[in-house]
Amino acid sequence: QNTIQLINRPKGTPTHDDFKFVEAPIGSPEQGQVLVRTVYISVDPYLRGRMNEGKSYIEPFKLDEVLSSAVIAQVEESKSDRFSKGDVVIGSLGWQEYSVVKENEIRKVDHKQAPASAYLSVLGMTGLTAYFGLLDIGKPKEGETVVVSGAAGAVGSVVGQIAKIKGARVVGIAGSDEKISYLKDELGFDAAINYKTENVYKALKENCPDGIDVYFENVGGEIGDAVLPLLNNFARIPVCGAISGYNKAERDMGPRVQGYLIKTSSLMQGFTVGNYSSRFKEGAEALAGWLSEGKLKYEETVTEGFDHTVDAFLDLFEGKNLGKAVVKVSEI
Ligand code: NDP
Repeated sequence: QNTIQLINRPKGTPTHDDFKFVEAPIGSPEQGQVLVRTVYISVDPYLRGRMNEGKSYIEPFKLDEVLSSAVIAQVEESKSDRFSKGDVVIGSLGWQEYSVVKENEIRKVDHKQAPASAYLSVLGMTGLTAYFGLLDIGKPKEGETVVVSGAAGAVGSVVGQIAKIKGARVVGIAGSDEKISYLKDELGFDAAINYKTENVYKALKENCPDGIDVYFENVGGEIGDAVLPLLNNFARIPVCGAISGYNKAERDMGPRVQGYLIKTSSLMQGFTVGNYSSRFKEGAEALAGWLSEGKLKYEETVTEGFDHTVDAFLDLFEGKNLGKAVVKVSEI
């Protein structure tokens, strides 16, 4: 089988030269293990951080070892009482076509209730990130204005829709006209701004006549800077991500406009979804409920074929994905 290893620590934007396809044996399960076939691989911006050396909230990838991320897989052979052939499971698994895993490294997903890939997106890590970051830190109230960057991505698109469910006015920021139309026409955002063609500060000022109460930060950098002067008193800023800086050799310093936080008594708080692991059940149930009621929509950008996994990952930094980016490796 084919596996994908990280062979260099990327300098700046990763390239194909940082990755290598390596043939490896499939292996066979021992007692308490199962052999699974990879169905979907999740590609995520945070994986870029794990490609750097140094301490973070999650271990860096090791060079010359197989990369990993959230994966949906199907059991091919089981030596565990907990799983049978054909079960569909999720786990943090290698970027490879088959894996032999311990029974406690995976859990079953119900792919009859929702398509299997949804457990990587709206019902999975990115949906939960949106749910907890927005509701626990952002705390939007009815009639307030919520701005979200990275708005057409996996996390951002769910943030905006939950904010609408809570009765807020929602303004999204994203990087193409197609994404802007999607946010307004499909997801019901009140306004959306293309940061590549518009002056973000001016457009926000026009589209947020009552100021900004919640800014859900996914991208950082200049977009984050443009929001701060428009904050209302006691605004909340869940800091979820800073993708604009992930490929920069020099770290962004900031926020560069702290004065705006002081004079508005605003709260800016970073978080990782893992902080909320004890409440994942609550979040997943709420998201599934909204999904079944038709209040929550989601989109996926599916790249076909294991050989294109690295492409799908690199495409995140060019904004090629609408909604969650996943790679389809095999059929269920
Ligand atoms: P997305 O689906 O949003 O994909 C990434 C998107 O980022 C791209 O589609 C692109 O959209 C945008 N982007 C890329 N480069 C830039 C740039 N230089 N400036 C502005 N936007 C850019 O990914 P996710 O929804 O999975 O993640 C969104 C953010 O949330 C990331 O920062 C990620 O690290 C973070 N995150 C944090 C978690 C946590 O626990 N704190 C958990 C999960 C995600 P566009 O066309 O608009 O440019």
